[in-house]
Amino acid sequence: MTTLHYLGLPRIGPARELKWSIERYWQNQVSIDDLEATARILRRAQWERQRDSGADLISVGDFAWYDHILEQSLLLGVVPSRFRDTLPTGIADRAFTIARGQADTTRGDRAASPMQKWFDTNYHYLQPEWDDDTCPRLASDSLVHQIREAREVQQGVKVQLIGPATYLWLSRFDGIDVDEALERLLPVYHQLLGVLSREDVQWVQLDEPLLCLDLPTAWRSRMERAYSGLAASPCSKLLTTYFGGLEDNLSLAAQLPVQGLHVDLVSAPDQLTGVLDRLGPNKVLSAGIINGRNIWRADLDHWAATLGPIRQQLGDRLWVATSCSLLHVPYSAGQELTDTPLVADALAFVVEKQQELSALRARLDGAPEAAWSGTFRHNRSARQALAESELRQNPEVARRLAGVETRHRQRPEPVDERKAVQQAALGLPALPTTTIGSFPQTTDIRKARRDFRQGRIEQETYHRIMEQAIAHAIARQEALGLDVLVHGEPERNDMVEYFGESLAGFTTTRGGWVQSYGTRCVKPPLIYGDVYREKPLTLPWATYAQSLSKRPVKAMLTGPTTMLAWAFVREDQPQSVIADQVGLALRDEIHDLEQAGLAIIQVDEPALREKLPLRRQAQAAWLDSATAAFRLATSAVRPETQIHTHMCYSHFQDILHGIQALDADVITIEAARSEMALVRDLAAAGYNGDIGPGLYDIHSPLIPEESQLRERLTRALASLPAARLWVNPDCGLKTRQWAEVEAALTAMVAATKAVRERIGETAVR
Ligand code: GLN
Ligand code: ZN
Repeated sequence: MTTLHYLGLPRIGPARELKWSIERYWQNQVSIDDLEATARILRRAQWERQRDSGADLISVGDFAWYDHILEQSLLLGVVPSRFRDTLPTGIADRAFTIARGQADTTRGDRAASPMQKWFDTNYHYLQPEWDDDTCPRLASDSLVHQIREAREVQQGVKVQLIGPATYLWLSRFDGIDVDEALERLLPVYHQLLGVLSREDVQWVQLDEPLLCLDLPTAWRSRMERAYSGLAASPCSKLLTTYFGGLEDNLSLAAQLPVQGLHVDLVSAPDQLTGVLDRLGPNKVLSAGIINGRNIWRADLDHWAATLGPIRQQLGDRLWVATSCSLLHVPYSAGQELTDTPLVADALAFVVEKQQELSALRARLDGAPEAAWSGTFRHNRSARQALAESELRQNPEVARRLAGVETRHRQRPEPVDERKAVQQAALGLPALPTTTIGSFPQTTDIRKARRDFRQGRIEQETYHRIMEQAIAHAIARQEALGLDVLVHGEPERNDMVEYFGESLAGFTTTRGGWVQSYGTRCVKPPLIYGDVYREKPLTLPWATYAQSLSKRPVKAMLTGPTTMLAWAFVREDQPQSVIADQVGLALRDEIHDLEQAGLAIIQVDEPALREKLPLRRQAQAAWLDSATAAFRLATSAVRPETQIHTHMCYSHFQDILHGIQALDADVITIEAARSEMALVRDLAAAGYNGDIGPGLYDIHSPLIPEESQLRERLTRALASLPAARLWVNPDCGLKTRQWAEVEAALTAMVAATKAVRERIGETAVR
């Protein structure tokens, strides 16, 4: 029999039960026992679904209270020093404390651990923090409890862990070097595998996506050291790679003393032959063939034809699996898109993917046709119907794109020339203060959106409520003394989903939620056809906001790369073409905004860093086309019109070039967690626009101290003249409460005023 398994499943629950329960727990509305009961039920359901869809090994270790990397840090006893003697006892509370920070009026607040993007996905993990006193040890028995829970569902379980090399790669180190950390970590992994083996766990999946990156030599040796150190551990190890191909790391991966290798054949199908050549006579090959990152039905005929001969060759040593964890896709497509059945039919969320995998396995194992042909037939006809459908192609879009020339992607005036005209028009003070776009999404705002969507209130009522929210945001911003205002984005559930609802070629699901970080989930829209703008996207809201204030209101749009990155995108066209289609749609919107008197327009590209290809070799070309799409959107404006862009989530080093290539007038960017180092780096790289380094971390409920903000601002001023510096938080404020926002922005404005006074306001801008 071909073994079927998953690399992990979503944990939030089909109706986001875990999210709701955790948030209620945070508000003291449910007890820890209730929360734990919810989690147990969800885990059990997830295992039952795996068992029922024929998984031979059900996965333990994909559950997490906040994030699975953090969960593993708690398991391994890797806890940031500032929390070491204050952590609560339960693992859930521990996770929440490290992920959200801890207020402490006597000894000072303890900041949350930094959050980072998980490779090139939109999932965020909590970065493990090491220092010289970090002494890993087995610090939690929750994994063992979960193994026992899982055993109530099925005997065959597989435990999944982040492998030691990738775990260290994701970590940050202060006063300890990586090799020393590895030295301390390995015995704990060894001990852990011992515990697992006593629990009778036969297979352990060790995730090492690191093997799909350009690996520095030191890391290759660490990989070797790690696995030779674990070679004697009793469990069978499945070395698990995904998000790309092994390429130059193939021989390294093939040599490691493990019992099986998982490869991602969706993102890197070409590696199959090489992998087969190097696999060795006894190892298991786990073929990742069902896409864990996208939601279109698989070409099962293709996979049956590809894997058939391999099944002959390897016999039981062939396993089939998803390409990566299904963390990145929603639960069930069953109730979705009932008004576009053609698209609905072509969807595969978790449940449908489970059917696909099980049908494919049945076919490979020579099961009777009845066991697989239905799913094969469905996939074949749904894929074909969509490919041939008129929904896919719009000749007008193609015609317009064909007419795009280089000059359409270029603002005629260089940035300093534009700056002079813009300053004359806007007359802003030195160190202008602003925010990133969204203000708190209150219960009233959410309710109004929901009521409107479900037809409980009329368009007019809905408009009135949104306008009230905008008016409130504008009034608050004026009272706080901010210089450049925003309308607050009350109409947007999400910065991508909202546009997905308005643009042609996009569609949105009712319940297609995926976890972004902690309890924050997003509902990525789907791009199934050519994209264009049928009607204004944001114009009425921005215009209304501007009508309420004499201060400039900055209009808010989401950029092409982010739109693609956070959507599920069709696979029959190059991404660059789709990005350009979005670029043209935004170009039309920007034109209208400019005509309507909005002098500042921000086009958010937080995903520009995240989507950067993991392999260096592919990066330059990708950045070229991503930034070209941005410029297609933004370069048709007058020199007076100021284009802002915004990014968050650090590691900008690799895209400084790209940031420059956007040719925006101002970039607001996350920098608080690196204490403003980014300003220096950007300036050093020759970036010549204005910069608004995020002055404080909005993801934490802690209120920043004015003195700390003053210090950060001063530090930023050491790298950049005041004339080019803006003041703002590091991201949108929608996940915060108004009280927190007011307190934080009050501190920010006060810090700015103090610094302005010190440097002499008039001298600078
Ligand atoms: N304008 C968006 C907001 O303020 C930007 C969000 C983001 O960068 N993720 O919410
Ligand atoms: Zn942001």
